[in-house]
Amino acid sequence: MTESPPGPWSGYQEGLARGELRFQRCGECGRAVFYPRLLCPFCGSADPAWETAAGGGTVYATTTMRPRDEAPYHVCLVDLDEGFRMMSRVDGVAPDAVRIGDRLRLLIVEEDGRPVPTFVPAERS
Ligand SMILES: [Zn+2]
Repeated sequence: MTESPPGPWSGYQEGLARGELRFQRCGECGRAVFYPRLLCPFCGSADPAWETAAGGGTVYATTTMRPRDEAPYHVCLVDLDEGFRMMSRVDGVAPDAVRIGDRLRLLIVEEDGRPVPTFVPAERS
């Protein structure tokens, strides 16, 4: 690779466009960094390295939003297995059916021409 590394946000968007959820991991303290940044927010070290999440996560918090004149939808915080937390939503189930602790699988969908990371319930075996 001879190109200079892209800025944190463009690197994240480029990952989504390829169907990858990228995050960073600090080479100094080893903690997962999300959203992408130039400096580790925990120890201040520069240039945390990119990694790609495997896509497994767990519901940390969930809320059903009920806008007037629109169908209810839900917003949740997901703890990814790699150790970072992001705001997203769970598709494929009724908003009220999402529970804290549910296992999820990443599903990147396209909305308004942009890739958006969402989640669906993980298959229960
Ligand atoms: Zn660090």
